[in-house]
Amino acid sequence: MNTFPLFFKLDNQPILIVGGGEVAQRKADLLARAGACITIVAPEITEEVQALLAEGVASGRHTLIHEHYDKKWLAGKRIIIAGTDDEALNHQVHADAQALNIPVNVVDTPPLCDFIFPAIVDRNPIVIGISSNGKAPVLARLLRARLETLIPQGYGNLAKLAGDMRAEVKAKIPTLTGRRQFWERAFEGRVSELMFAGRDKEAKQTLEDNLAETAQQLAESTTHSNDNLEPVNPIKKNGEVYIVGAGPGDPELLTFKALRLMQQADIVYYDALVSDKVLDLCRRDADKVFVGKKRSNHAVAQQGINELLINAAKTGKRVVRLKGGDPFVYGRGGEEIEALQAAGIAYQVVPGVTAANAASCYSGIPLTHRDHAQSIKFVTGFIKAGAENNNFANLLDEEETVVFYMGLHALERLTTGLIAAGRHPETPIAIVAHASLPTQQVLTGTLADIVRKQAHTNLPTPALLILGKVVSLHETLAWFGLVERVIL
Ligand code: SAH
Repeated sequence: MNTFPLFFKLDNQPILIVGGGEVAQRKADLLARAGACITIVAPEITEEVQALLAEGVASGRHTLIHEHYDKKWLAGKRIIIAGTDDEALNHQVHADAQALNIPVNVVDTPPLCDFIFPAIVDRNPIVIGISSNGKAPVLARLLRARLETLIPQGYGNLAKLAGDMRAEVKAKIPTLTGRRQFWERAFEGRVSELMFAGRDKEAKQTLEDNLAETAQQLAESTTHSNDNLEPVNPIKKNGEVYIVGAGPGDPELLTFKALRLMQQADIVYYDALVSDKVLDLCRRDADKVFVGKKRSNHAVAQQGINELLINAAKTGKRVVRLKGGDPFVYGRGGEEIEALQAAGIAYQVVPGVTAANAASCYSGIPLTHRDHAQSIKFVTGFIKAGAENNNFANLLDEEETVVFYMGLHALERLTTGLIAAGRHPETPIAIVAHASLPTQQVLTGTLADIVRKQAHTNLPTPALLILGKVVSLHETLAWFGLVERVIL
């Protein structure tokens, strides 16, 4: 470690920036956010810099000096930044600052820096600084981008709430261990989830309730025994169920929220459509339970799943119910939360990229297009054996795209039914199998010939059918898996 990370209080502190261009602007922007009083000295100061600091200049907080550098401006400053395009001048500023023992940073010149500007993840009051000690600033920025995606915006508010309650918690829970347990419970449980979901008031209320409960427990343990220094065991509470859309298979299509909840899970119940790669991203020591359903015994299986979710939550576990695609698109997520609601279990639902979106984007078949389709229908292609009508009369609009989920097994009945109901036999249709996965395959044809083509090609499930004029765009817009075609 050849620099030591410290967090410097710059609120109301005088600092000097030598230079009035883009580099100065970037530093001024950062330092103004930290509350510093900025003096800029440069013969030319860009309009952008002037605009950035205008308010502070008007109120007397910031000062712009349209002059050549002079070391007299260094006096009394807490830090100095040199960001001019004149190398000799930068050296001069560095030497002058060193003579006065004021920390100096010559931008992009590590040997002339007493301190380094880190890449910053700002979740005020939580601040993370990342430095590569000048060796690889781009790498530090990439790392920052990764952290940005992993740390919910709500962390700042959570830390503020904790700050507001700190004194009260200290007063009510006298032991260090007790307080640590209390905060761990808050930060890993419902309080933080509520905060991340933007439900600040409920988060505060829950934290206050937890505190009252813990204080009560402590009071009871003091009356019943002399040993009140034992850690406080929080009362066993119901856990929570997260119904999470896992998308179509490619883990990169998960939402940040899905990933975060998956990494907190104690137990995961997952469907057949959830890919191994997605499953791998769940917390390593979470129990993973397959609850894939067979087409024939939906009702029973669904009730069984509801019970599993409820029972696991009742033991205090954080339960993730991981579903292919989106939980509310042919995912029976609605039924699961009805059951949870009836059982009084807390839950959240996280959307996922539904198969129709994945199949559309990854096959180059836009679902809407100014010239071809003004509306979209998602319908189920599932037809019970022996059943007749699939409501084909509603699917005859030539300007509408129809996406069939679960339709491959009934391809023949769907296509003949649509033609019989009056949809043009030449209407383009596509089968998109394994959408978004490396094994994706697309077969296009018309209502009249797709059955024959599929008999030859035999695309596997899971697969979607996309029907409508937009399918004709596939030939020119297909991109996924076509590396050579794109390069040539
Ligand atoms: N909730 C899911 C749909 C579940 S129904 C979602 O929103 O995507 C199951 C059907 O989804 C399958 O029969 C198939 O038609 C479709 N499907 C799911 N994943 C798919 C994939 N990767 N490629 C193509 N179709 C898929």
